[in-house]
Order: sequence, then structure tokens, then C-alpha cells
Amino acid sequence: MTVVGRDAAAIRAARQAAEPDADLVELRLDAMLRPDPDAALAGRIKPAIVTCRPLREGGMFDGSEDERLGILHRAHELGAEFIDVEWDADVDPLIRARGGRGVIVSRHDFSGTPHDVRGILARLRGKGGEIAKLAVTTERPSELHALLDAANGDGSSIVIGMGAAGLATRVLADRFGSRWTYAGPAIAPGQITAARLQHEFRFRRIRRDAAVYMVIGRPVTGSLSPAMHNAGFAALGLNAAYVPLDTRDLEGLREFGGAIGLRGASVTIPYKRDVMPLLDDVAPAAAAAGAVNTIAVRDGGAARPGQAKWVGSNTDADGFLEPLRARVPTLRGLRTVILGAGGAARGVGLALRREGASVAIAARRPEAAATVAGAIGAASLDWPPPSGSWDVLVNATPVGSRGVPGTPYTGPFDGTLVYDLVYDPDPTELMAAAAAGGCTVIGGLAMLVAQAERQFEIWTGQRPPAGLFEDAVASAIKARST
Ligand code: NAP
Repeated sequence: MTVVGRDAAAIRAARQAAEPDADLVELRLDAMLRPDPDAALAGRIKPAIVTCRPLREGGMFDGSEDERLGILHRAHELGAEFIDVEWDADVDPLIRARGGRGVIVSRHDFSGTPHDVRGILARLRGKGGEIAKLAVTTERPSELHALLDAANGDGSSIVIGMGAAGLATRVLADRFGSRWTYAGPAIAPGQITAARLQHEFRFRRIRRDAAVYMVIGRPVTGSLSPAMHNAGFAALGLNAAYVPLDTRDLEGLREFGGAIGLRGASVTIPYKRDVMPLLDDVAPAAAAAGAVNTIAVRDGGAARPGQAKWVGSNTDADGFLEPLRARVPTLRGLRTVILGAGGAARGVGLALRREGASVAIAARRPEAAATVAGAIGAASLDWPPPSGSWDVLVNATPVGSRGVPGTPYTGPFDGTLVYDLVYDPDPTELMAAAAAGGCTVIGGLAMLVAQAERQFEIWTGQRPPAGLFEDAVASAIKARST
């Protein structure tokens, strides 16, 4: 666990707070106003890594190199278990003094993922330290693939993909061949807290041979899906892990997926359509909607012996309908109005049409409403919809979410049910007003959970325990807002 502090008292307090949960504590002396190894190391109860990263390697130390190496030597004299020293520094004296033991020779490349990751790691190892650590900026699956093949898993290397796309290298550290992972206060790009690593990703139960699942999109680092699916894997005792792949594009996705043992993925904005050419099969409903939100990786069978088969489907429609069906005996003939004309409006509109409901689209841009309505055989309606125009009102705009506060509709609430696809906050302003106006209300969390439960079932053949995904999402939202 990485800790920082501006002065002796602060770094010691941060270290003491980290020690109960950490296997190792990395003391980032470069974040101190006056780096002080004596103060940082005194009284520790867990082994420590001492790091004093210079500006040139992305750290905060701006003093002279002699001063910096002096600080690291002092840490050595004090018995620091590990000392991190940069590849381009004068590392030989420290390596000689320790016989290489506990020396981490590190290199950071913020410009991207170099071609020769393996060669660079080998050269870092060649310096004679105990561990070679390479951290590079990653943006896409092909670059993660380069990191996956580079570390040899014998405890002599650590590879980190910096940035949002590299989160898998931190969560699946063992699978990437790394000796350990770093968690902490985001001092490095893409670093997550130890609490999130343990509670949402259940890091301690992830084995090297775990079946891997991902949510592919951008942005997805804040996705609530890992909290749900990882809770499901833990509850059913499955050797599996679910991580975000926040990627700039889909380059190398099939190859990386094959190499890491991908068994399934959720797909979200903006790749629900782009992913389709990479699949071997797409379920008819997903093809009709023009959007895949679920990939299941199956054995190729007789047709493709030894080869994986990637099958796309879409659980959004069923995820939307399930909570609705639980409250409304039949949708046939109901007058539904959808606010918004984006991807969700289109998917939800199609699902409602299939159920025999009458559907009208209302959007702030009438031409957008007309286009979506035309595409799915619905009507278009004024914005905001006039009174008496709906039995069921669906909000498929982001209005009411934390990013876009407010409400897309102020009433009258003269229909029977309001369904807000926004899931955070819960309730939204619209949900509260609709409930006060006497309507039955469904929130976006119900859909989020229902579509995830279906995905889980597609992948594992089992339903997650009832209520588990709701609880996982609620605690993830709570953890983020505190
Ligand atoms: P999208 O494709 O970007 O479409 C958003 C729609 O909302 C567009 O028609 C947009 O109009 C309209 N809009 C945006 N800001 C608006 C404002 N201030 N006033 C009025 N209209 C506004 O997004 P999406 O994928 O359809 O998602 C829509 C919402 O549904 C998001 O909040 C998403 O999180 C939520 N959602 C939830 C679930 C779930 O499981 N609960 C699933 C899917 C989606 P313009 O084109 O004029 O900008």
C-alpha cells in the first residue's frame, strides 16, 4: 500500500493507518516537504518500500541527485526492507551494499507502451536488483497484451499499465506476472485505493488462473458492474475476477482476451456497436437493436476445435422489462412516453414495442425524437410531453444524475408509473416528485441490477443470490460518496 505525508507526523499517521491491511507499505518520501527516512521508518510493524521518486520519473522530489541517493542510502542503513531506485540513477553502490537484496530497479514511461517491453524488463533485471519494475502508459488491449507476455511470474518483475486502461494490471497483478500490486491515494495515474481493491475487486481471492471478465467501454473506471459481478463470484465460490477495461479503442481485443483467459465481458458506451465485427455470433435481438452489451466466450465446439467462440447478446431490454413486468400485469396497449432520443431510448423503445405497448418519443431536439421514433416504429411527441399523454413515463436522458442535476419533467403526474433510468442518486428528483404525485416509481438501479444478473447467468449458468447485486451496488455507491 502506498502512503504519502507532507511531514513526519503525517507520513507516520498514514503508514500506521495502512499497516493493518497492507502486506508491504510503500513510503513515498518524495511527497514530504523534507524527505525524512528516519521518521518514516521508525516503529513500523510491516515491511517497507522506500521510494523517493525524482521529477524526471514522475515523482515529486526536486532536489539534487546526490541528496536523493543519500536519502536512499540512509534508508538502507536503517534496514528498509525494500528500496526503489530508478533505472537511470547510479544504482551500483546501493546494489553492492545490499548484494542486490530488496532493491527494486524501476522505470516509468509516461509516453506510452514501448515496443520492446520484454527487453526493457530484462535490462532492468540485468542491473542486479531483486525486482525489476516497469510502469508504462497503456491505452488499449494490444498494449496490455504486450505487458502480459513480458513479466515472467517468478517474483523478479512488476509490470504496471498506468492510466485508466491499465487497471487490469493492478487488479490481476498475479496474472500479469507481477510480484505485488500497489494501491493507494492515486499518486500514480490509475492507482486505486486499497479499500476499493479489496472490497470491490476482492483482490485477496483472485488467483492467477482465475477466469477473467471485463467491462469494456470508456469511461468505465467508475462502473458499478465490478462490485456486482465480483460479489457474485465470491458468493458462489467461483474462481473468477471482473475488471474494467477503459480503452481508447478495441485494437487487439481478441488476442488480448485469448491470452488472458477472458470468459466474458460487458460492453458499454461507446463500443456496443463497434464490438460487433469482432464477434463470431450475435443473438438476433442484439443484431436488431444494433447493440451488444454482453459477450460470452465459449468453446468453439466441433466447428472450431480448440478455438474460442465469442458470442454477443444484449441484456438491456430484459433488464429494463423485468422490474416493469413485476409491477404492471401487461404492457400491451399501455401508452408509454420515453424522454430522450439516445441509445437507451432506442433500446427501451424497441423492448416496449415488442411487448405490444404504444410508444412515443419526446426529446429536446424534435428532429432527434422523429429519427428514433421512425427507426423503431414509434410516434414522436412534444417536449415536454403534454398532460394526459402517458400511462408509463420513462426518463432516458441523463437529467437527474449527479453530473446533470435537475429533472427532465415537472408534471403533471397523471399517469400510473414513472421509470427513471438514472441510477445515481436514488431517488432522483423526478422519482421523488412522481412518488409524491401518486405514481408507482422504478429507479435505474433496478434495471442496472437486472441486466447484470442476466449477464452473470449467461456466463456462469447460475443466478446470483437474490438481493446480492442490489447490496453490492448500494455499498459501492456509498463507499464512493464518503
Ligand atoms: P445518450 O445516447 O447520450 O442519449 C441521451 C439523451 O438525453 C439524448 O437524447 C440527449 O439529447 C438527451 N439529453 C441530454 N441532456 C439533456 C438535457 N439537459 N435535457 C434534455 N435532454 C437531454 O445516452 P443513453 O445511453 O441513451 O443514456 C441515457 C441515460 O440513461 C443515462 O443517464 C444513462 O446512465 C441511463 N442508462 C441507465 C441504464 C441502467 O441500467 N439504469 C441503462 C442505460 C442507460 P441531445 O441529443 O439533444 O443531447
